[in-house]
Amino acid sequence: SAKRHGRNHDQRFRPSLDVAGDRQLALVNDLRTALAKGTQLELHYQTQHALRDGALVGMEALLRWRHPVHGMISPGDFIPLAERHGLMSSLGNWVVERAIAQLANWRLAGVAEVPVWVNISALQLIQGDLESRLAASLAQYRLPARLLGLELTESVLLDERAGDIYPRLEALRALGHQIAIDDFGTGYSSLSYLKRLPVDKLKLDRAFVRALPEDSADAAIVGAVLAMARGLSLEVIAEGVETPAQRDFLLSNGCPLVQGFLFSRPVPATELEPRLLNELQPI
Ligand code: C2E
Ligand code: MG
Ligand code: MG
Ligand code: MG
Repeated sequence: SAKRHGRNHDQRFRPSLDVAGDRQLALVNDLRTALAKGTQLELHYQTQHALRDGALVGMEALLRWRHPVHGMISPGDFIPLAERHGLMSSLGNWVVERAIAQLANWRLAGVAEVPVWVNISALQLIQGDLESRLAASLAQYRLPARLLGLELTESVLLDERAGDIYPRLEALRALGHQIAIDDFGTGYSSLSYLKRLPVDKLKLDRAFVRALPEDSADAAIVGAVLAMARGLSLEVIAEGVETPAQRDFLLSNGCPLVQGFLFSRPVPATELEPRLLNELQPI
């Protein structure tokens, strides 16, 4: 009904949970249109900080879709749809190009260089020519690869369709990209793979952060991950830090980096720019 399809402020629009296939297909077509027009899609940016002094050290780019009828749809809802219907490569390419264009804008605006991290889906590695697209976009704006970090989940690293991913990660790092394992701890991989995995950073999933410091099991897991990462010379960034108590626990356990609502929510680039100009010393 028209009411059901209208903007609804009480109940979030959850397309991936909707069983009606025709409604999903309509949404897939809307997404195709959004990609072609480029006007409904946006990247929002969430800051990342050094825990010791609060310094802004990076930003994660997070995809947003402002649907003309349904309003803001969360990536957790439309990305699975894009993956199922063959739109993920185009969507991923859009994200990479937009993030690089934004880096160039910030440089023009006089913002000191700080890396932007983008989320890379398995399908981008499997189907896409990710490496050459990254190189072409960076070259277009004469930006160094060190300004674009890549976040991959454990499931991406273990996806057999992606082939032998290790040499590709090595090559991306040789070009200057930093690589992080996203949602670390929630996958089903063995710990031994970390020994030879060419990555720079672990992003500790917020599932382990949420109940800190009270939950003694989570506290033990986080402490162990931090100790292990130190031994392997991997950086750790804790995700989803919302309270001072969580921050204090992480600080006293030697976690170097944090990201979360306590520091900032993901916001549009224009909203972040004054803060970037303020907090970052130009070089
Ligand atoms: P993620 O990459 O793990 O991103 C972190 C998510 O946690 C974001 O949700 C962010 O808004 C949210 N978050 C950050 N700090 C806090 C906090 O303190 N508390 C809580 N409760 N949440 C926090 P978002 O933006 O809805 O994105 C969800 C997921 O969608 C991302 O998880 C990522 O897997 C995926 N995603 C987002 N943008 C892209 C993209 O451009 N490409 C791909 N392939 N996936 C994306
Ligand atoms: Mg991420
Ligand atoms: Mg994550
Ligand atoms: Mg996540």
